[in-house]
Amino acid sequence: MTTESGKKSRLIEEMKAQSGQDPNSCYQCGKCSAACPVTAALDLMPHQVIRYLQLGLEDELAESKTPWICASCFTCAARCPRDIDLARMMEGIRLSVLRCREGNKFGPADLTPEQLEKLPQQALVSGFRKYNK
Ligand code: SF4
Ligand code: SF4
Repeated sequence: MTTESGKKSRLIEEMKAQSGQDPNSCYQCGKCSAACPVTAALDLMPHQVIRYLQLGLEDELAESKTPWICASCFTCAARCPRDIDLARMMEGIRLSVLRCREGNKFGPADLTPEQLEKLPQQALVSGFRKYNK
C-alpha cells in the first residue's frame, strides 16, 4: 500500500475519532436532507454523506463539496431520530481530509520568529491542531 492510499484509508477512522459519531447508527430516513437549508448547493445530500461513510467510499467523500458547504447550522442534528450529530461529522470529514492530504503539515518551524510573536496565540494553536497529526 502506498503512503497516499494508506492516508486515504484512514479518512473514515479519523472522522469517527474526530466527531465521536458512528455512521452505522443511521437508518437513512432522510430527515436530515429534508431539513438542510443548503441542499441546492450540495453535490451529496446529508443522508448520502452518511451512506458513503457506511459504504467506505472515502475517495468520493474526499472529492465532495458538501462538507465544505455545510453551514454547521445543526438543523440536521436537531431533526435526526437517531441523535446523530451530522454537523460534527461534517467537521470531522473536513479535518480528516485536510490531515490525510499530502503537504498539509504545519508547525512552528514553518513560521518566522516575527510571525510567531505577532500572530494571536489562539490562531496558532488552532492551526497547529488542525494541520498536525
Ligand atoms: S436524519 Fe439521522 S437517521 Fe435519518 S438519514 Fe439523517 S442521519 Fe440518518
Ligand atoms: S449542519 Fe450542515 S448538513 Fe446539517 S442541516 Fe446544517 S447545513 Fe445541512
